[in-house]
Amino acid sequence: MVSNMESVAKSSEHIKKTLIGLSTIEIQEWCIKNDLPSWRGKQISEAIYKQQVESIDQIIQLPKNIREKLQEEFNLSNLELSKEFHSSDDVTKCLVHGGDSQVFECVLLPYEDRVSCCLSSQVGCPMGCKFCATGLGGFDRNLTTSEIVSQYLLLQLRSKRRISHVVFMGMGEPLLNYNNLVKAITILHEEIGLSLRHITVSTVGLVPQIKKLTELKLPIHLALSLHSPSDEIRSKLMPVNNRWPVKEVVGTMIEYQKATRRKITIEYLLIDQVNDSYQEADAIGELLQGIPSIVNIIPFNYVDTENGFKRPSNGRIEAFKNQLRLNGLTVTQRQERGHDIAAACGQLAGEHSGRFARRLEKNLFTVR
Ligand code: SF4
Repeated sequence: MVSNMESVAKSSEHIKKTLIGLSTIEIQEWCIKNDLPSWRGKQISEAIYKQQVESIDQIIQLPKNIREKLQEEFNLSNLELSKEFHSSDDVTKCLVHGGDSQVFECVLLPYEDRVSCCLSSQVGCPMGCKFCATGLGGFDRNLTTSEIVSQYLLLQLRSKRRISHVVFMGMGEPLLNYNNLVKAITILHEEIGLSLRHITVSTVGLVPQIKKLTELKLPIHLALSLHSPSDEIRSKLMPVNNRWPVKEVVGTMIEYQKATRRKITIEYLLIDQVNDSYQEADAIGELLQGIPSIVNIIPFNYVDTENGFKRPSNGRIEAFKNQLRLNGLTVTQRQERGHDIAAACGQLAGEHSGRFARRLEKNLFTVR
């Protein structure tokens, strides 16, 4: 697929529809419309999602005339690889684009017990979180279902083992691209065979979309980027809090937990002297009392911002975690990997974008 992905979109071909991103049923409908038996549709979807062919030509189960018919209407994918980076700790980061000049990223993270990947849902992001490289660069567009699923398939080609876990923590706020996200999750599950329980969607807390997701009752994992239990601090860090404050968003997460029976994850970016006090740990304990949840601590490690954010000392990080545990909470700390290729959370494509650097210069925001 990669070689084809790389060559695709060098011409006007990139405006064709893409096969990746269609469900088996949709491919079968195309077959029927083109006087082909619907079982051909199953063959095509198995070739693209199970065998993971790299071009329509590689679907050798199909006679040449059907492949040609497909090629007249479709590209396999529009995703193009721009650049690939490998870190000293085995992380692979791919810079990709969908046939235009708008670059986004996906990351492959092999662990001993699983292989995970981090996918983007938008090019840029409109949410404007003050600590995030992507947010500082502004928003370009939503990714299509095809572009989301193609990131997984592109990374799978680079992985020695099967990618079993997907996290939507790359560029963008996934729930702002709700329909394409849900369809991509459906394809990852129903066509590629990933367990829904191994898919995590991370959100800043868009209450209406969380409610919509709750109604679907999919057992996917939902992670809330909380970053402060105080409205005052959280609003300074994340403008979204002005619209949906802490109690409202946590209440909606609790409804999600009850409907899906999945523990909720609270992502907590720990910033020195900003949100790392004992009082904040106690307030998180109060918010989550009795709720099946995990608090995942992410010590600030991102970009060299001019807003004065710093990583707390190891002593402060440990003290904060201990205080959370004293409040009866389950606490983890995110494994930090891929630093030498800027693949850590919040360092995505912004690094490669001049826009980001310009926005950073202007960002004189300070908290407290
Ligand atoms: S942290 Fe997530 S939601 Fe916030 S600006 Fe960055 S990408 Fe967007």
